[in-house]
Amino acid sequence: MEKERRAHARPGAGSSWAPSTVLVTGGAGFIGSHACVELLDHGYEVIVVDDYANSTPHVFARVERIAGRFVGAVYELDLRDRRALSAVFDRHSVDAVMHFAALKSVSGSVARPVEYYDTNVGGTTALLRTMHEHGVHRLVFSSSCSIYGDAGPGLLDEATPPRPTNPYAASKWLCEQILADVCRHRPEYTVLCLRYFNPAGAHPSGLLGEDPQDVPDNLMPYVAQVAVGRRERLRIFGADYPTPDGTAIRDYIHVMDTVEAHRVALDHLADEPGMHVYNIGLGQGSSVLDVVAVFSETCGRAVPYQMVPRRPGDVASLVADPSAVTRAWGWRPTRDLSDMCRDAWRFQQLNPHGYAGSARRPGPKG
Ligand code: UDP
Repeated sequence: MEKERRAHARPGAGSSWAPSTVLVTGGAGFIGSHACVELLDHGYEVIVVDDYANSTPHVFARVERIAGRFVGAVYELDLRDRRALSAVFDRHSVDAVMHFAALKSVSGSVARPVEYYDTNVGGTTALLRTMHEHGVHRLVFSSSCSIYGDAGPGLLDEATPPRPTNPYAASKWLCEQILADVCRHRPEYTVLCLRYFNPAGAHPSGLLGEDPQDVPDNLMPYVAQVAVGRRERLRIFGADYPTPDGTAIRDYIHVMDTVEAHRVALDHLADEPGMHVYNIGLGQGSSVLDVVAVFSETCGRAVPYQMVPRRPGDVASLVADPSAVTRAWGWRPTRDLSDMCRDAWRFQQLNPHGYAGSARRPGPKG
């Protein structure tokens, strides 16, 4: 059953422009797939491109089951293949783009920096060229708090000078600079750049969550796989950070809040020309041991761990000052760390081996 479209005819938005068809790059990934649900739930037409580098097309059957609607079309392609990407823009009248597609492992980027620059920066410039050729100028960009680097304790606002400490973060910062420069020279562009802190959790249905193809790099899916018995113990990277318990502090934000911010951003693509950057976080830091404690409480058993040396490229603390987005849009996240652990655990229990083995969707395919 189709759900009602709502929320993007914002009173007082000052413009009649509102997107109806949104192209989601990386729509099969963790955040991208949740974004598809959020967009379908709010009546948008959704077109996806993804190369499945760290994701699977199985996810769309679940997206559509939750939303009760079909994704308009799904294309398997690498953004750097501009001919294939251009054909997608030829076929669909795209109003706005949400750009999630990127490689995102810090350790992977330290091992393979050129691949990270090529995929993340090259993918973004290819997308921008193709958008330009098709007269599409509105973009919500997925950036990362990791660009702040080793900024020290305390809340980081958007004016904190970026000092990336690894090629992944540097690639995101390069993309931001390119986007800002495009907006500086071309007034027809609007780019809303969301610097997320640490998205975690899962859709509350338990159907959609984080399903890394390899050994998880990120903390929450690793903890969940230990809790379900798929891995023996968590390795905590560094117990000698200058933090109260010695483990690194991050600002975890629920993936549902993260994608809600993207959907709300669409309402502001018409009334905020130029490039605008917003932190997307809770403004609350949790150490690795805090996450282990809350997850252990959620799943009812102690998650075993061992302390190991720091991971190259990691920093002690990254916590958002999230006030700018609330001031600008009146939006703030509503879910906390227990909600994230509860939903991540539900997904892990219902899908101990992730999406492997789920049926491919029978719906439309581009
Ligand atoms: N971490 C850890 N063990 C793991 C994965 C992550 O101790 O198996 C730590 C990591 O060193 C960092 C925090 O958990 O301090 C969050 O890491 P994640 O990779 O999830 O996000 P990042 O902040 O690096 O983007």
